[in-house]
Amino acid sequence: EQNVPCLEVRGLTGFYGETQALHGIDFVVQPGEAVCLLGRNGAGKTTTLRAVVGLLAKRRGHIAIDGRPTQGMAPEDIARLGVAYCPEERGIFASLDVEENLLLPPVLMPGGMTIDEIYMLFPNLKLRRKSPGTRLSGGEQQMLAIARILRTGAKLLLLDEPTEGLAPVIIEEIGEAIGILRQRGFTILMVEQNFRFASGVGDRFYVIEEGRVAEHFDRQTLASDHARIEALLGV
Ligand code: ATP
Repeated sequence: EQNVPCLEVRGLTGFYGETQALHGIDFVVQPGEAVCLLGRNGAGKTTTLRAVVGLLAKRRGHIAIDGRPTQGMAPEDIARLGVAYCPEERGIFASLDVEENLLLPPVLMPGGMTIDEIYMLFPNLKLRRKSPGTRLSGGEQQMLAIARILRTGAKLLLLDEPTEGLAPVIIEEIGEAIGILRQRGFTILMVEQNFRFASGVGDRFYVIEEGRVAEHFDRQTLASDHARIEALLGV
């Protein structure tokens, strides 16, 4: 199988009840890439991630993971194709400690990281392994949320605003962790409002506007066309 995208999205439309949030989204993510969805608040970025993992019930159009269409599939079956979603809210269990949070999620596929592998990637989590979720800093919560999806064995990671609300030094750590994951062959689709962070980790970028892809460019274009793209995003 040559040139099969890790994720292909064609003509994706999506609704919340009667309200249409996505109006025909098209993009691809190739194996090993880090692709970033940019755009203003309410543009449809989160909804796109939710559609990919099957959480958006009312979705139409073509979504394929490793060439396998996910039409009509439930989230748990889509997860078994090797995709995992880390929501913006992070979803840490507050009453569980770090290690319990890591032990709880199902390991869905072979290749899920062991607790020791997780601790090598995020040494902070090892230091804090007996700390309850309520005691974790924002950065620790974010690392734990990413760590949890690594337990599943998914190779395609969907990260929704991983740097939101975090201090610059922590953002740097998250960036380093993403770099290591890429070296290990993970594919990343990310929603990010932090333009500087996105331009550091992303290979290609799609600007979402009112539920459509308004523009698409690579890292070189982002660097050379910086001012215009910032204006486009309103940053
Ligand atoms: P943000 O960064 O603010 O989350 P976004 O680009 O991710 O922005 P979405 O969250 O995907 O945008 O929202 C797209 C549209 O769908 C918005 O108009 C939003 O108001 C609407 N929307 C999102 N979630 C719901 C929901 N649960 N019910 C109804 N409408 C929703």
